[in-house]
Amino acid sequence: MNRCGQCRQFERTAENKKDLCGAWEQPTLATREACDFFLAKKAPRQAEDAKHSQS
Ligand code: SF4
Repeated sequence: MNRCGQCRQFERTAENKKDLCGAWEQPTLATREACDFFLAKKAPRQAEDAKHSQS
């Protein structure tokens, strides 16, 4: 099951104890069950590396 902590729109701010969902601009929790707007975090660096290793 996906959780907010794995979502691209999940934000954690150093000065805030609460986690924030950037999509809803509402507090959330890393451990909360992901909503329908869940977007998996990309790993851009890994994707780039894969491209280069193919050429
Ligand atoms: S509430 Fe939805 S959009 Fe917001 S961080 Fe969680 S899964 Fe992502």
